[in-house]
Amino acid sequence: MRFEEMGLIEPLMRAVSKKGYETPTEIQREVFSDVMAGKDVLGIAQTGTGKTAAFALPILQKLYKTKPKVKLKEGKKPGKRGGGRRRDVRDDRAIRGLVMVPTRELAEQVSESFQAYGQYTGLRRAVVYGGVKQGRQVMALERGVDILVATPGRMFDLMEQGYVNLDKVEICVLDEADRMLDMGFLPDIRALEKALPKGAQHCMFSATLPRSIRGLADSILNDPEFIEI
Ligand code: AMP
Repeated sequence: MRFEEMGLIEPLMRAVSKKGYETPTEIQREVFSDVMAGKDVLGIAQTGTGKTAAFALPILQKLYKTKPKVKLKEGKKPGKRGGGRRRDVRDDRAIRGLVMVPTRELAEQVSESFQAYGQYTGLRRAVVYGGVKQGRQVMALERGVDILVATPGRMFDLMEQGYVNLDKVEICVLDEADRMLDMGFLPDIRALEKALPKGAQHCMFSATLPRSIRGLADSILNDPEFIEI
């Protein structure tokens, strides 16, 4: 099956063609149709199976279809200055897609994938993680973001400071959930669940399926599709 046959929209088709992908991997086909159908997903997949695109493409497609309109800030016209960056343009963006990852390296990698796959959608993503100053991350958040990729510690810090608001999250992914548990993030995941709106769609990916992951999946996911690659 080709990407077109999956029902991938044109801006995403352009991006995958630019990446040189010819056909979706198995996990991409399965996760795409389940996420588009509004189902929760538990995916057992290693890195290298194409799992990042598997969740990034349906998230981008869902959020693209309901993208808020761009509005100009009152009393200001788009200026000529600013090197083409329209800093005077504000809109009603809110974080609607959230991807939680255990490490900053994975955060960067996943964020770059969203950038590559989403480059023709006009959707904005930001990435936040600890170990670096928060200034640039805060600036990105203040411009307005549709999709946030985050490690738990920094995200909660920024939430407490009022820079991250999860009230509008429609879909949340926990990537490398087994590593998150190994790293002691279970309390953060629990806190995250409390902060998300009721009824948000969830996907969880893990390389392994120990009892702890089954338990977490049981408590977080709503009648999930189980996909093992
Ligand atoms: P991931 O498992 O998400 O880390 O992806 C592993 C590698 O596969 C990355 O280098 C992707 O760019 C590549 N990849 C993902 N999906 C496809 C596809 N459908 N066709 C070819 N390469 C892909």
